[in-house]
Amino acid sequence: MQKTELLKKLKDEVADLKESPLYDIRKNNDWLPVIGEGSHNAKIVLVGEAPGKNEAEQGRPFCGASGRVLDELLKYAGLNRTGVYITNIVKDRPPKNRDPRPEEIKIYAPFLDRQINIIKPKIIITLGRFSSAYIMNRFGLEKIFTSMGEVHGKVFTFEAEYGEVKIVPMYHPAAALYGSGTKKLMEKDFKNVRSILKGGVIK
Ligand code: URA
Repeated sequence: MQKTELLKKLKDEVADLKESPLYDIRKNNDWLPVIGEGSHNAKIVLVGEAPGKNEAEQGRPFCGASGRVLDELLKYAGLNRTGVYITNIVKDRPPKNRDPRPEEIKIYAPFLDRQINIIKPKIIITLGRFSSAYIMNRFGLEKIFTSMGEVHGKVFTFEAEYGEVKIVPMYHPAAALYGSGTKKLMEKDFKNVRSILKGGVIK
């Protein structure tokens, strides 16, 4: 099957994911699942936490205030939305913007794993502690993941099923809405991605 077909199948499965505690909440509120958006051949995949209100209403990742910050940050890396793929670890909105629960991450993370294996990115940028912790654990880097303050902007290389991948954990874009200090750090981290790209990671 082609990438687009595989991603369509995954989308249908998430849409029908009745065993998720967030499924009934989605249906009752007329929300949409948020699978991901961007190029299916992207060399860079960005992984956020979970959809917020705007995202669940539109079925698109990062289309609210955090999304505007993300668009700006992508520019520091010399990127835009069409050239990357953006998704979340949890595909349905946790109510009242609460943090995703471990049992929710457990249900949705295999879909993220599949998306990564279908798209086969060379760089995974994790946005915030939930996706950073999950991805670093998933690839055996759990001892290195201490806190976002410690790992943000650093580059970790690991072997995925399909080849070498670099993980770059970043603060969540929402953090930039609360403090200009964090925003400055994030700008620096995204500029660093630009240098990595210039270094020829993506051929
Ligand atoms: N925050 C996230 O983590 N993901 C989104 O899609 C929107 C906000």
